[in-house]
Amino acid sequence: MNAPVTSTPNKSSKAPLITGKITPMMAQFLEVKSRAGEETLLFYRMGDFYELFFDDAVKAAAALDIALTKRGKHKGEDIPMCGVPVHSAETYLQRLIKKGFRVAVCEQMEDPSEAKKRGSKSVVRRDIVRIVTPGTLTEDTLLDARGANFIAALHMNRLGDFGLAWSDVSEGLFCVSDVSKQALPGMLAALNLREILISDTLYEVDDLIENLPLSETACVPLPRAKFDPRAAERRLKDNFNVDSLDGFGDFSPSEISAAGALIDYLQITQAGQKTELSPPKRIISQNYMAIDPATRLSLEIEKTQTGHRKGSLIDAVDMTVSGPGSRCLQTWLQRPLLDFTMINQRHDGVGFLKERTDITEQLREKFKHMGDMARSVSRLALGRGGPRDLIHVMNGLSQGEAVNALMAEQGHMDMPEVLSLALGALSLADKPSLAALRLDLSKALKSDVPILARDGGFVSSGWSADLDNLRSLRDESRRIIAGLRADYAKISDVPTLKIKHNNVLGYFIEVTPKYADNILAMGEDSPFIHRQTLVSGVRFTTTKLAELDRQINSAGDKALALEMKIFEEFLNRATELSGPIRKAAHALAELDAYGSFAVWANEIGAVRPVIDNSRVFHIKAGRHPVVERALSRLGGAVFTPNDCSLDAEQGTNSTKAPQLMIITGPNMAGKSTYLRQNALFCLMAQAGSYIPAEHAHIGIVDRLFSRVGASDDLSKGRSTFMVEMIETAAILNQAGARSFVILDEIGRGTATFDGLSIAWAAIEHLHHVNGSRALFATHYHELTDLADQLDGASNACLRAKDWEGELIFLHDVQAGAADKSYGVQVAKLAGLPERAVARAREVLARLEQDHDTTSQTLGGLPLFMQTPTAPAPVSKTDAYIDNLNPDDLSPREALDFLYSLKRKLEEG
Ligand code: ATP
Repeated sequence: MNAPVTSTPNKSSKAPLITGKITPMMAQFLEVKSRAGEETLLFYRMGDFYELFFDDAVKAAAALDIALTKRGKHKGEDIPMCGVPVHSAETYLQRLIKKGFRVAVCEQMEDPSEAKKRGSKSVVRRDIVRIVTPGTLTEDTLLDARGANFIAALHMNRLGDFGLAWSDVSEGLFCVSDVSKQALPGMLAALNLREILISDTLYEVDDLIENLPLSETACVPLPRAKFDPRAAERRLKDNFNVDSLDGFGDFSPSEISAAGALIDYLQITQAGQKTELSPPKRIISQNYMAIDPATRLSLEIEKTQTGHRKGSLIDAVDMTVSGPGSRCLQTWLQRPLLDFTMINQRHDGVGFLKERTDITEQLREKFKHMGDMARSVSRLALGRGGPRDLIHVMNGLSQGEAVNALMAEQGHMDMPEVLSLALGALSLADKPSLAALRLDLSKALKSDVPILARDGGFVSSGWSADLDNLRSLRDESRRIIAGLRADYAKISDVPTLKIKHNNVLGYFIEVTPKYADNILAMGEDSPFIHRQTLVSGVRFTTTKLAELDRQINSAGDKALALEMKIFEEFLNRATELSGPIRKAAHALAELDAYGSFAVWANEIGAVRPVIDNSRVFHIKAGRHPVVERALSRLGGAVFTPNDCSLDAEQGTNSTKAPQLMIITGPNMAGKSTYLRQNALFCLMAQAGSYIPAEHAHIGIVDRLFSRVGASDDLSKGRSTFMVEMIETAAILNQAGARSFVILDEIGRGTATFDGLSIAWAAIEHLHHVNGSRALFATHYHELTDLADQLDGASNACLRAKDWEGELIFLHDVQAGAADKSYGVQVAKLAGLPERAVARAREVLARLEQDHDTTSQTLGGLPLFMQTPTAPAPVSKTDAYIDNLNPDDLSPREALDFLYSLKRKLEEG
């Protein structure tokens, strides 16, 4: 998908011009639309519908597959129109946002009766209350409970490096970071942005956007002035109500520029309403493992290469029981740590919960009921929350307290530091205002509450004496009405008389036409007043009934107003406490993530990896977490565990493992699986997870590189081979002594000798220059000779056997090179026609014969960095040709030359 490029709302954007005679309502629409901007659809509220006009209607009708109608004329042309009902607007918004649109929501800002007071032709006041964009969503229905929703602003400094500010508005997270040009793609890929703000000058920089992983991100160009550092600093100070930003950290001008632009954009999209964000947190990008977008994609961390979560690493290991927990786990796996103390602390946390399964199960039971407190408090702060959000806050706080109490019972003696810290954030004992909020919410709210506060009926009786009085007045009136029915039935002698209610008439008496005369004939003393005659019945009222109706309505209105006031009070309290509420929510999410790693480790049989600052990588009996799961789901096949030992420490000794392994083996034998599983172990271990193996010892990996499988990027005009070479180049240029590299089938996308030469050179470069721990899988058997030539390289192979014509894959990794590749057998397995298979065997036999000589030549290829061999002596014929200038020859002389050349060649 290409990035849907949208523009920011601005006054100069094109909208249908206001010319000629138009209705006051259309004039209002055009004025609002010109403010929303051409690229933003305008949802214009008219009663129970949001209507769209002109081009907006045409675009929205097509995108939503709804009817396109017309209403009135503009400049002699029909005005296209479509609309969506207000009550189901979120569903339509969701679809539009998914398709890359932005939507400005224009509400009626007053009751139509107010407008009428200004004259019959006056128009209801309307204004934009919000611009809905992919990165500023807050509604549960529009968000993925298990996925973060990031928006970022990007600023480039004079040196060509970047300041990045990002936020998940839905939970108030706000971070900034200085990022080098090289690290930017990896950082953006880890964030998986929904929307990015870029200055229009940066947007024009050739190839910048195209080369960033933003194919699923809406890009919004903003005027450069929005990134002005001084204005940005002012905005940040205003937003966080501080005189100086020093208290939050030491920010670079680039970080401030990006953060200021982001804050400004959020204010515009929320129509001036302040978004409650945590103070900016400075993230040092160098503290996290660098994983470039190609590696991220090839390792299928958060999604598979086909774009699905199912089948990804996160899908396989995520055992969290709450949305916030899942988001936390995802962040950990997307950005593994480098600090070995912090990594070990995470392992301590997982280890404790892994051992104490009794506690973990109880905790998880509580996490299931905690709701999404951080998202709820953000909605409340934006004025978009309802009583259910208050319930989430209450549940979150009370589950937090319960978690704290449960852990306190166990005593804190052997509690790992990370868990104690999280529990500290959950203890309400030392936060009286939070404890009071939780207690008051539990007393004030019913357990089953409506989504919207304006629907009322969510405050428990006993919370407000005034509310209770109004409700009993209303209920008493209803009881009296129920009693009246019997009296009226008696005096009218109509046993089937009913008292009903509708929104137009309020309470009324209804009798069937058959009995209507009983009442109509009652004479002057009759209390009944005729209201309506319908085919189905005749309707009456009485003075008493009308009075009771009025009392009920008035009590109902007053009760609702009082409930709204109570809601506002709680909303304000929750917003004021949003900081500690978010901290508690974050702590709960982390505990859920620790619990998830612990449960997974127990279920899968994973061990705690030894992490240190060495450059070794030792795995005993490792298993690929995703492939193993897939095999067990299919039933039958069991995953074969495999060891892997690499050592990139300086110096050599006889027992030292190789720094680089060349893996050969038949197709389908499990080479890619083996490569990936070991790369994933680095990532998982440093994210805090245990490893599916019998033993794991991993020296910190600062950069992970993977080039697995071939894929082209035709949208960027790159062929498969070009993509492969660009990615290989990135690895050979960037990998260092602490990196871990897996390369699979490099050089396969071109002619055999070209490919073989590139693969050969890549191995030598990795060995001599990069010094990284590396696994290199290949089908070029010639490369296995390199193991004899390079000190730090060795061969390993995956075996298969040909048993009575059947190919059996053993999937186990052994020392040494593979004997043959079995490609034709695999093709047979895949169902290639028998004739084609037979012919392939014939051709193969011939090629193998010819190939023997070639392979001998390659085995003797000179070693990397050797002095070039002396040039071969020039033959007499060569010299004869060298001295010739073809442009000086006439056709006759050229022919003579050819004859004399032929003679010289024949003479030798
Ligand atoms: P090719 O050379 O054709 O790309 P390959 O050698 O890279 O093949 P993989 O793609 O890694 O092979 O594995 C093929 C299949 O073999 C996997 O999809 C998986 O089902 C199975 N497999 C791989 N490794 C193992 C293992 N260790 N134990 C059991 N099954 C395995």
